[in-house]
Amino acid sequence: MKVVKFGGSSLSEAKQLKKVANIIKDDPTRRIVVVSAPGKRFDGDVKVTDLLIALRRNKVTGLDTNEAINQIIERFESIINELGLSESLLLTYRKTLNHYLDTIDDENRLLDALKSCGEDFNAQLLSDYLNLSGVPARYVSPKAAGIKVTDEPSNAQLLAGSYDALSKLNYEEHVLVIPGFFGVSENDRIVAFPRGGSDITGAIVARGTDADLYENFTDVSHIYSAHPGMIENPHAIKEITYREMRELSYSGFSVFHDEAIQPLYENKTPIMIRNTNQPEIEGTKIVADREFIPEMPVIGISCDEGFTSITLKKYLMNQQVGFTRRLLQIIEDYDISYEHMPSGIDNLSVIIRSSKFEGNTKLENILKEIEEHMEPEEMYVEDNLVILVIVGEGMKEHIGIATKTTTALSEGNINISMINQGSSEISMMFAIRLEDEEKALKAIYSNYFKEIDG
Ligand code: ASP
Repeated sequence: MKVVKFGGSSLSEAKQLKKVANIIKDDPTRRIVVVSAPGKRFDGDVKVTDLLIALRRNKVTGLDTNEAINQIIERFESIINELGLSESLLLTYRKTLNHYLDTIDDENRLLDALKSCGEDFNAQLLSDYLNLSGVPARYVSPKAAGIKVTDEPSNAQLLAGSYDALSKLNYEEHVLVIPGFFGVSENDRIVAFPRGGSDITGAIVARGTDADLYENFTDVSHIYSAHPGMIENPHAIKEITYREMRELSYSGFSVFHDEAIQPLYENKTPIMIRNTNQPEIEGTKIVADREFIPEMPVIGISCDEGFTSITLKKYLMNQQVGFTRRLLQIIEDYDISYEHMPSGIDNLSVIIRSSKFEGNTKLENILKEIEEHMEPEEMYVEDNLVILVIVGEGMKEHIGIATKTTTALSEGNINISMINQGSSEISMMFAIRLEDEEKALKAIYSNYFKEIDG
């Protein structure tokens, strides 16, 4: 039994939905379908989720909401008309949007309820379309499916017990169509997962129903060893482990949400990344263990922008009991999580996503407190950092990875601000300046992959 998830570009317009229906028809073991909201149809188009976010912004700032509602309805209207579905769906959609706008006062709750509509409406219409195409299908809401989550808006976490409920889903007679991206809290409120969270729903459903395979259909045929926008014809990965994928999707590979790996990792459910526009291509399989290719110790190289580092220097730092704890306590007091913490004996850097400081004075306040309570000899902040990560299970068996990488960077005249390697030895991270990003990626990529792909 397969659980199949389709991303926003696979469901952006009627012609894409036709491909989706054919993919489901083609394989009768595809029994549960999880959907995203309609995504972009062309460059510069707006995703329905973003239209919904804009609708909520208009509402809370007291602007007119009609235009925004119409824009959303029009997106669904063109799909419904072209697929020959009943227009009565549109009335229900409009009613639902207005109902949330009229009855939910809390701005964060309203955001989650509105955001859920993109996937919810899409699931309803896909179910209708499958029935029209001769595939018996049934829409199942996350509530009816038993996807219970915590109550923190836009950051839902699955509650224990959901898997039990999901294991009872009956998909024998009908293909079930479940909207992704949200669950329902104990007190019956709609709570969204983080952006891109339909992958998470798909993973949860695959785990709960003990699927043999979780197929994740998107608009690329593979996961590539580096970003195709930066490297021409990058190596197409056939097989990758959960741990490698987790490292890569955390650090910039946007094909698959990093939080979606955990539920599948625990159960060892394999994941297949496939392309809705080229369903005949096998794609990339994410598995617990893979065969190692000795000449390819590194499987992927990713870059993620938008980091800030705070570096402290203090002589004999290593002998001060509780120094790191106090520093992290200050950061925690501002409700900020950190990403990396490379350290030496007398220096320590904390790397934080710059977005955590946006639009507030947290950074200045943190620096003031550090100055006051920790009295560093030197302290400085670096902005606009890029985190470049090289990942591969084969790295731990391989000598000279660090040298090979730093040599490539120094030959390219690229300054490395920081290096960090976790104890798992499957990844190594380098902090570099934004202006060096593309040059660094190219230099390292050609070092590891040139011989492999010729
Ligand atoms: N529609 C949501 C988003 O744009 C969730 C998803 O597509 O996975 O973030």
